Amino acid sequence: MCRLCEARRNAVPGEGSVNAKVMFVGEAPGEQEDIQGRPFVGAAGKLLTELLASIGLRREEVYITNVVKCRPPKNRPPRQDEVSACKPYLERQFAIIIPRVICPMGNSAIHSLLESEKSVTELHGIPFEVGTATYFPMYHPAAALYTFQLRKVLEEDFRKLQSLLDAL
Ligand code: URA
Repeated sequence: MCRLCEARRNAVPGEGSVNAKVMFVGEAPGEQEDIQGRPFVGAAGKLLTELLASIGLRREEVYITNVVKCRPPKNRPPRQDEVSACKPYLERQFAIIIPRVICPMGNSAIHSLLESEKSVTELHGIPFEVGTATYFPMYHPAAALYTFQLRKVLEEDFRKLQSLLDAL
């Protein structure tokens, strides 16, 4: 059982197209997301929207969600039991949307979705196939708000993502 719902204002299930070819998975809703009930609408979301636009994509064409659907208190990282409790929702989203490319953004999403101990530093920008989907790990956009060089890395990874999508 997960108790994150007790302190949240709104659940943030995710949003986008049910026909999306690509799905972006972040860590957890933050304050703005909790207020609006929508994913990635704060500062990190603004950058994500810009990165999408840089490869000609609109938010409405992709699907954006998080590993957990409720904001953890004070934006602490979600705990393993909370991630596990919320996993069926994410699995159901994958089953309905059947994305061709799944982008876990940041270590929380990477460790939750991939059975790997490796960090985003090692895994970002390297696509690999699992079943019918290609996983394409990326840095979390919030990381690029604090470390400017990471913005360049994210921009480069988005260009690689564009090539992946063009090749589908
Ligand atoms: N950070 C996340 O991981 N998800 C959001 O929705 C917003 C910020």
